[in-house]
Amino acid sequence: MTPPTPNSDPEEAADGQSDFVREKVITDNQQGTFAGRVQTRFPPEPNGHLHIGHAKAIALDFAIADEFGGICNLRFDDTNPLTEDHTYAESIVADIKWLGFEPREVHYASDYFDKLYEWAQHLISNGLAYVDDQDGETISAQRGGFGKTGVESPYRDRSIDENLDLFTRMRAGEFPDGTRVLRAKIDMQAENMQLRDPVMYRIRHEHHYRQGDRWPIFPTYDWAHGQGDAIEGVTHSLCTLEFSDHRALYDWFLDNLPLENDQPEQAEFARLELTYTVTSKRRLRGLVDEGVVTGWDDPRMPTLSALRRRGYPPEAIREFCSHIGVARTNSRHAIELLESFVRTRLNAIAQRRMAVLRPVKLVITNWPTDENGDPVVEYREAVNNPEDEADGTRRVPFSGTLYIEQDDFRLEPPPKYYRLAPGREVRLRAGYFVTCTGAVTDDDGNVVEVRCTYDPETAGGNAPDGRKVKATIHWVSATHAVDGEVALYDRLFSSEVPGSQTGDPRDELNPDSLELLTDCKFEPILADTEPGQVVQFERLGYFAHDPREPMLFHRTVGLRDEWANIQKRRQKR
Ligand code: ATP
Ligand code: MG
Repeated sequence: MTPPTPNSDPEEAADGQSDFVREKVITDNQQGTFAGRVQTRFPPEPNGHLHIGHAKAIALDFAIADEFGGICNLRFDDTNPLTEDHTYAESIVADIKWLGFEPREVHYASDYFDKLYEWAQHLISNGLAYVDDQDGETISAQRGGFGKTGVESPYRDRSIDENLDLFTRMRAGEFPDGTRVLRAKIDMQAENMQLRDPVMYRIRHEHHYRQGDRWPIFPTYDWAHGQGDAIEGVTHSLCTLEFSDHRALYDWFLDNLPLENDQPEQAEFARLELTYTVTSKRRLRGLVDEGVVTGWDDPRMPTLSALRRRGYPPEAIREFCSHIGVARTNSRHAIELLESFVRTRLNAIAQRRMAVLRPVKLVITNWPTDENGDPVVEYREAVNNPEDEADGTRRVPFSGTLYIEQDDFRLEPPPKYYRLAPGREVRLRAGYFVTCTGAVTDDDGNVVEVRCTYDPETAGGNAPDGRKVKATIHWVSATHAVDGEVALYDRLFSSEVPGSQTGDPRDELNPDSLELLTDCKFEPILADTEPGQVVQFERLGYFAHDPREPMLFHRTVGLRDEWANIQKRRQKR
């Protein structure tokens, strides 16, 4: 199967085009900037689980290394003791592997704490950093704002010796939290706020998940990130646009350090945002903590662990990332585009099965019985995947009592309803033609049994006399059916840009994002579905077997290509 290319939209399509990141690498290579070397890194903070936005960054970091014969490492930016943990780090490693990428090496920013400390002393010794005794609020007020002057700290001109002494004592744990910081001495009137004497170290008597209690001071993101890049030999440090104005600071620190390697360069690209989706770890954590979802891998979440559980093939995520490409302006992509990659991929690989989600009995009144008076059981041959002949066929038991979907029968069919109704003939998939002769209802008028006759001449799927039926419906033999549950998902949020109304996405939760069906009937072979395996339920969509819970299936995506519809609507406009 060729990979899917859902109809292109000028905003969305970047497939195969070059982009500013690749152009930069090519220029650097031509100019010999890094002696032809290309090294990238993916730098997550182990304070949560990776989401679909991270997939874009991962795909880009690894693709750049791969295309230019370079390497890409994983580096945990683990400089904040309050939020980080081993379990997050482990899940990040697993998610990257699942997505199909393998870091050359795994590094931890916390391993560089000694080097950072030494480099901070170097800056102090050169008059480029100082200890400030003011509290965080005062410092932040003095920074001013855009078009507003900054105020220099009264401690800014401390002597180098005093600074070295105080910094040593900060490191030794002599001072309580929040009483002092180390700041870079740059320019309190700089137009770029990031350069107004940014904080490099904070005092925090906290346990770090890898460093234990060794450190009472912790570096800020800005004072750790570029330094980590330089230590590892990163050439192109790719990050998202919100770091654009940090780049001057990134360069300032590196310009002022005695580097052994080449000086890395930061380049920024647009974050991935999707409609109806939140891609902020903080917000996602809120949903977990408040019990809005059942966990980080609740299949309604945009985390990689949730998408995996929901049955998204990693290839589809990679293809989506490569299709949307990289740009320098933020934009929000339609979730339907991602789903369309998922659907195309699953169409190619998922085996077809029959499952009845909301069952009603169908009794074939002229079905034959054997010598004991029991209904005959016949094994019908069904194609596993029409897209892939090599997947072969399977035998599905068929007998006189079946389950069909309640939706596939109407006592009084509305106009354009072509499925079963009294007097109406339809085809049973891989079965026979059946004609409805009536139905049994309960006291409330609910249909409890549909009655039909079958035409034994239609075993081949068609009538020898050439008569046509307008519908084919799926079924499961009642005595052979395996019971189980199906979770149907809708968008977690009801608005395209969650939070656009009130600023809080939780105000725009879709109350119907989960519907659990507990009385589903499956064809027997579904009992052998592997944990995590995705199948197509005929006529219903793609469904993933839960990795832990047997006979629980999650709807991955439906069958209808909503992306194609969106495109048609856009073209009309
Ligand atoms: P969040 O804002 O969701 O908490 P983060 O940026 O704090 O995410 P990190 O673990 O620091 O998460 O991110 C690791 C890398 O992934 C960074 O280089 C970051 O720029 C990138 N990244 C994070 N979110 C996205 C996104 N939505 N699209 C593209 N890249 C992203
Ligand atoms: Mg971050």
